[in-house]
Amino acid sequence: MRVKIINIILIAVLMSFNCLAFDIIAHRGASGYLPEHTLEATTLAHTQHPSYIEQDVVLTKDDIPIVLHDIYLDNVTNVAQKFPERARADNRYYVIDFTLKEIRSLSVHERKNAHGKQVFPDRYQGSHAHFTVATLAEHLELIAQLNHQTQRSIGIYPEIKAPAWHRQQGKDISAITLSVLNDFGYLNNASAIILQCFDFNEIKRIREELGFEGKLVQLIGAQNLAILGSAQSIKSLAEIADGVGPSFYQLLDKDALSQGNIKPQDWIIQAKRNGLLIHPYTLRADQLPSGMSLEQVTTILSKLQVDGVFTDHVPLVKAALESTAK
Ligand code: CA
Repeated sequence: MRVKIINIILIAVLMSFNCLAFDIIAHRGASGYLPEHTLEATTLAHTQHPSYIEQDVVLTKDDIPIVLHDIYLDNVTNVAQKFPERARADNRYYVIDFTLKEIRSLSVHERKNAHGKQVFPDRYQGSHAHFTVATLAEHLELIAQLNHQTQRSIGIYPEIKAPAWHRQQGKDISAITLSVLNDFGYLNNASAIILQCFDFNEIKRIREELGFEGKLVQLIGAQNLAILGSAQSIKSLAEIADGVGPSFYQLLDKDALSQGNIKPQDWIIQAKRNGLLIHPYTLRADQLPSGMSLEQVTTILSKLQVDGVFTDHVPLVKAALESTAK
């Protein structure tokens, strides 16, 4: 489907909001260039000068928060070769079944699908360098050091992954993660951190029970679209959270899109009325929305006046935003 972006329908309410700074979030580090969530990907991301670098957080068997996207190890490491007997009945290798020491012995590679094919075939293809899984503490220390060495203040954007699942396994991932954030001063430096989670109950708990005072972003996926379903539910969310992280596709009216027109979904206006930041995911230069160029996507983001975007390709998105602004 070719989308005619000239048909962007702008709503007066949207236009009345000031266009504040646009946050660029390095999604899983510089994951478009190096294996995601490795220290190398974080280091490269830092050199690309995003507003924030993202850390997905899961817990090991010995309760150490590590930076990894899945509760499984098999899509991004050689765990199946190294520990073939340690899969569960569903044939998955769970982070929570392995100690940090064991996980450190694994080699991280580009994300692969169940058939062993690289999910993004044109990304990093080397096979000799040994990338490893690192802890949240190691990532935070690295970013703090790079900020200090380069006189920058690039923020962090950790995601608490699957808190209900961790609880079922007897672990309180949020409390443990907050404790590490506290070790690095992030609980007293609200401008340097945004914490994100898909689980609204956990967002509420992090705010009310665990007392986190920094910015909280409620991620939105197919499973919790109802949060954006009414003016009242958006208002309730805004009492707890500072922002929402929807998919790019949740920004646009689907009926209008099927006609080739770009029209913001109604919830965007309500979210803005309630002061919620909007940080959509995930802009990938090698997996763009059908029929759109990167510049067309950044034009839409600018017109919608969202507050930022998660991207695997910080430099390309920056360049596209600059060309859009001209
Ligand atoms: Ca994430």
